Amino acid sequence: MEHYDQAAYRQPEAGTHVPLLSEKDDTVTDVDSSLPDDLTRDELALPRLPEPELARHYVRLSQQNYGVESGPYPLGSCTMKYNPRFTEDVAALDDAAVHPDRSGHSVQGTLKLQYDLQDYLGRIGGMDAVTLQPPAGAAGEFTGIRLAEAYHESNDEGHRDEVVIPDAAHGTNFASAALGGYDVVEIPSGDDGRVNLDALDAALGENTAALMLTNPNTLGLFERDIEQIADMVHDAGGLLYYDGANLNALLGRARPGDMGFDIMHFNVHKTFATPHGGGGPGAGPVGVVEDLAEFLPDPHVRKTDEGAYERYTPAQSIGKVHGFEGNWLVLVKAFAYIDRLGDAGLSDASAKAVLNANYLAEQVDYEVPLGPFHHEFVASAGDQDAADVAKRMLDYGVHPPTTKWPELVDEALMTEPTEVETKRNLDDLADAFNAVAGEDDDTLENAPNRTTARRIDQTAAARNPQLSWHDLD
Ligand SMILES: *Cc1c(COP(=O)(O)O)cnc(C)c1O
Repeated sequence: MEHYDQAAYRQPEAGTHVPLLSEKDDTVTDVDSSLPDDLTRDELALPRLPEPELARHYVRLSQQNYGVESGPYPLGSCTMKYNPRFTEDVAALDDAAVHPDRSGHSVQGTLKLQYDLQDYLGRIGGMDAVTLQPPAGAAGEFTGIRLAEAYHESNDEGHRDEVVIPDAAHGTNFASAALGGYDVVEIPSGDDGRVNLDALDAALGENTAALMLTNPNTLGLFERDIEQIADMVHDAGGLLYYDGANLNALLGRARPGDMGFDIMHFNVHKTFATPHGGGGPGAGPVGVVEDLAEFLPDPHVRKTDEGAYERYTPAQSIGKVHGFEGNWLVLVKAFAYIDRLGDAGLSDASAKAVLNANYLAEQVDYEVPLGPFHHEFVASAGDQDAADVAKRMLDYGVHPPTTKWPELVDEALMTEPTEVETKRNLDDLADAFNAVAGEDDDTLENAPNRTTARRIDQTAAARNPQLSWHDLD
């Protein structure tokens, strides 16, 4: 053992050579590598710290952080529900993670789990076939757009080059359609916060490839005219795409497939209690109606007549949208959650999510212009700046709602408590909202005061992130 010498463990200057363990231990030298020389390096400067320093560093960081295990996290549209521990236990089982290159006959259990999850999600969404491959909701949207393209092309309708999207939609909808090479036709919402049928009618035509819709929409409002909307889109020859981010409102009660949707994604890291918010990994399985099943990504899993499970390439597959079968362990957690809750548990979750949102909406002093709501509501901060309100709420020890979106409501505070909060937590949350509602601009502009980091430069943090210890002088 080396003698502990604190000075030797200080973080080295950026760029200085730090001796590697391998340089001290001649058993780990000269690794044979087939990588090209210009892609390899001789040294790797890693910080060397004694264990107590490392333990304290991470515990300190965890204490400075706020998560769904610290308190309510009502970030609207994100469905930040508590992730039950048993799902982690299941994902940590020895056999949960098998090498994706193993032959199908040696991983029958894994393939069965994939098959069953495809089936569960299909039944929850009312879809005929589901791919597990896309790694996030946004990737699911992009996959869906490519499926729509393949479908139209196979029908000699490749000229359809427009995707219609309501203005209240999530930014990823616009991005996914544009990335897929489509022209985006944005339609304004009606005064009631729902799709304006006249605007939709005017936007649809022989170039329409699809309409992308969230239901309930980002205002937490159910699109009551969904059947008429579906008929209009289908009559125009387009497909109806369901953005599944708000599925928590309908779980076990209503199914996008029954409303006329042809393609949908699931955000398993929202609806099915998979941890998220730290940048991943997540998963965005995509479901489709029968007519689109043969275009699904490669590979897909099916059950043979003999009862075995096998991977195969759907007849007109769009190819791969991610490696292998997607972010597998994330999907294992989703499977465990769905399997444990069952039909009754899932519909109970959506009932409580909707009840909690409506209860909280009643308790806050801020004006809540629309309604009735499903799993989330959008209040208006009125004369206050919604971003300041959010910063100030941190001082009351709660996570703020999503702010300034959707733009239909001035200074929007988009709030989604989820089913996991108790009445007491909701009351505390309402107290925090209402305390801030009564405060002056000075107080708000200087908040937060009680957090580790005060106001950070959000633009710089997003545009110029410094993620390596090398960057921290
Ligand atoms: C979160 C969200 C998405 C994108 O999903 P990711 O999994 O974050 O990529 C799309 N639409 C809505 C309405 C969302 O809230």
